Amino acid sequence: MGKTNAEWHREHRMPPKPTRQQRAAWHYEHAQHCGCRALTPSITSLLISQGYPVPQLQAPRAP
Ligand SMILES: [Zn+2]
Repeated sequence: MGKTNAEWHREHRMPPKPTRQQRAAWHYEHAQHCGCRALTPSITSLLISQGYPVPQLQAPRAP
């Protein structure tokens, strides 16, 4: 995957008990700024269920 944006992570801590909305917002922002984690199908469906467009950074598919 891409490199970790440590600075972004320092400034964007996930809340201790995030709601689905907070998690979706975090993952949406995260995908734009940092490539340390692939978007798993569960994160993708979380984003969709909360009304976010799915960012381009997708989990790589095996050829
Ligand atoms: Zn990251």
